[in-house]
Amino acid sequence: MIKLERINKTYYSGAPLHVLKGIDLHIGKGELVSIMGASGSGKSTLLNILGILDNYDTGNYYLNDVLIKNLGETRAAHFRNKLIGFIFQSFNLINFKNAMENVALPLYYRKVGRKTRNRMAVEYLDRLGLKDWAHHMPNELSGGQKQRVAIARALISKPQIILADEPTGALDSKTSAEVIQILRDVNREGMTMIIVTHESGIANLTDKIIRLRDGVIERIDDNSGHDASRFNPDNIK
Ligand code: ADP
Ligand code: MG
Repeated sequence: MIKLERINKTYYSGAPLHVLKGIDLHIGKGELVSIMGASGSGKSTLLNILGILDNYDTGNYYLNDVLIKNLGETRAAHFRNKLIGFIFQSFNLINFKNAMENVALPLYYRKVGRKTRNRMAVEYLDRLGLKDWAHHMPNELSGGQKQRVAIARALISKPQIILADEPTGALDSKTSAEVIQILRDVNREGMTMIIVTHESGIANLTDKIIRLRDGVIERIDDNSGHDASRFNPDNIK
């Protein structure tokens, strides 16, 4: 589903910074993968390239066998909206819209009528245990609730891939465990899930750990034998 060949990326704001140095990577449909590495190792840069939010300089990125390279913004947005859902550390909710309206937003961009998109948004909120919070504003929600709203928003457009950049970075350990459990459940329904984290307790709950160091993949660990008993909120942070 995802194939990266020798991806290089340099930032040129100020002194050139070579952030990704020849990344080769294969991620299959339905995998549950984490990208682990210290702050500054290039995790977000890699995820933004996977999400077609940013370009790379050299190499090839194939998504479902389509070469994703130097796309115009219209085509980039087309693939992004069709295939990819995003979850961020800071939730990225719109603070003047309620939970339901936040979840419904991707459908608004798809020109789905208000009634239908709000009904679907409430269904997704219900799935995430937030039905009673549909009409609350983000500032009335806890961090964990906000992230669940963001997950509902990512799911509502039925993407093939979820990209999550430090989804538990702003949450306490108990709430982090709940959020990761939700992402694992979503993955079990068949969705490819890529989680960036610098916490080994989070990475240990995924099936494959890609270890990034200074823009190079240092190692890929098969973690598919991890057992659910390790799923203890006290262990993940
Ligand atoms: P991580 O997510 O692993 O913390 P990033 O991919 O965000 O790492 O960043 C890798 C390096 O690139 C860091 O040194 C960061 O400061 C730098 N960087 C990230 N984004 C930009 C940008 N837009 N312009 C210039 N440098 C950047
Ligand atoms: Mg980052």
